[in-house]
Amino acid sequence: MDYKDLANLIFPDVKDASYYEEKYPERKLKDGAMVVRFAPSPTGFVHIGGIYTSVICSKLAKQTDGVFMLRIEDTDQKREVENGVNGIIDALKKFNLEPDEGMIDENTSKGAYGPYKQSQRKEIYQAFAKKLIEEKKAYPCFCKQEDLDAMREKQENAKIRPGYYGAWATCRNLGLDEIERRIKNGEEYIIRFKSPGNPERKIKHHDVIKGNIDFPENDQDIVIIKSDGLPTYHFAHVVDDHLMRTTLVLRGDEWLSSLPIHIQLFEALGVKIPKYAHIAPIMKEEDGTKRKLSKRKDPEATVEFYAKEGIPSEAAIEYLLNIANSNFEGWRRQNKTASIDDFDLQINKMSVSGALFDMVKLLDISKTVISRYSKEKVYDLAINYANEYDEDLKELLEKDKEYTIKVLGIERGNEKPRKDIAKWSDLKDNIGYMYDDRFLNKEIEYSYQNINDKEEIKEVVRDYIDNYFDISDDKQTWFDKIKDLAEKHGYAREVKEYKANPEGFKGHVGDVSTVIRVALTGRHNTPDMYEIMRVLGKDSVIKRLEKAIC
Ligand code: GLU
Repeated sequence: MDYKDLANLIFPDVKDASYYEEKYPERKLKDGAMVVRFAPSPTGFVHIGGIYTSVICSKLAKQTDGVFMLRIEDTDQKREVENGVNGIIDALKKFNLEPDEGMIDENTSKGAYGPYKQSQRKEIYQAFAKKLIEEKKAYPCFCKQEDLDAMREKQENAKIRPGYYGAWATCRNLGLDEIERRIKNGEEYIIRFKSPGNPERKIKHHDVIKGNIDFPENDQDIVIIKSDGLPTYHFAHVVDDHLMRTTLVLRGDEWLSSLPIHIQLFEALGVKIPKYAHIAPIMKEEDGTKRKLSKRKDPEATVEFYAKEGIPSEAAIEYLLNIANSNFEGWRRQNKTASIDDFDLQINKMSVSGALFDMVKLLDISKTVISRYSKEKVYDLAINYANEYDEDLKELLEKDKEYTIKVLGIERGNEKPRKDIAKWSDLKDNIGYMYDDRFLNKEIEYSYQNINDKEEIKEVVRDYIDNYFDISDDKQTWFDKIKDLAEKHGYAREVKEYKANPEGFKGHVGDVSTVIRVALTGRHNTPDMYEIMRVLGKDSVIKRLEKAIC
């Protein structure tokens, strides 16, 4: 018996690795095209970090005429949940990050480099494991968990580096006859890689994000095929990214320390090593220390959070691009209406350590994104949200669609559009006061700011209704009339005028218009009051002003 016979004994039915090399040839793409992948495990939970990785993948593929793949890593079948794959696909769809290749539902995929689900690639991994066994670079290991535990205890007691390596790798040196006998006896085994490494030596690596790093070589004989015949992450990664012709492996930096293993495996298979970019996780500050955004503690770690809050996915994407490349913000300021496709993402400009999640910034970006939308688009997105999450909002929006669109159109579509809406879950609060059936029947707590005297307020509002308000006025006339009203009641027509002579006036035009605004809407902060009056209409304006002073 030789090593070829051993390989055949272990994997009698698999094809030769060369078959797969031919089946999945080098891709014919233009120079510089990047082939990247998002490779999640279907655990039933999509972390916003996964969307972050996918945004980067998708941008790089688009920018270089490359390929963005979705590969499902389901070799740890204990962690798998039903419908986990669909959950991932839906999340990517929601964020407009549909991959060019990969899984399109639980069991179907598109693209010529599939299957894209690891559990369907069992024979492929086995073909490459077989090749390594033939070449004496991998071997079956019969050690049981108890043996490994006992070994670890010995190592710990003797204060020796733990693991399966060197002289501790007992199955490494079994003779072929013994191996054959034990396999034929039906003993359970796994396949381990025979590491050629020596930790006294260093390997040098250039990571596209982290820069130059060196590591001690790996000398652990890691498991490549488990007892269920499926590969470990390490082996699957190397085989898949080789055969899928990935050019850049973008993944979380928790994998950085495994890189020496991966490099060794690529070398053992005699294939080209892709580039790597290890992404720092998004962080959260808690009690003065930074930690990774956690799915258990931080609602914003889950993709559902964005849907439930009604933060448009476009806003979340802009926020993530902003974390990825800090110059995105400046670019956006210069290119207010450009598509994000026009932004040139630079992977080497990504930060080496993790950025802090900043909710204020996210909502700020969201306000700007929403401010760019047309009133019809705001309506459509808001109604989609309401259908799913808020019955009452749905009722409000649908009762008089035409009116609602007018409300949403206030201060929109101009040079400086309104920026008060950050998320659909706030919309009721943003526009609820515009609906007479809600406003007129409600107890309102009017807070008039500078002018507090009830009689004074009554006089001003009464006078406005009786002598100044005319719904058909143009904006200039409307505003001049508010100034006239102010002047008549002892307030300066202009703020400047008041500042120059504060003793000479009770206040200024701003104080008076605030009184009208608060009486009209119950708030002192609203979009343009003239537009609000036009949308409300004459009767509503009068009813509201009367209500305030009755
Ligand atoms: N399945 C691995 C994970 O979810 C993927 C790492 C990689 O992208 O290679 O962490």
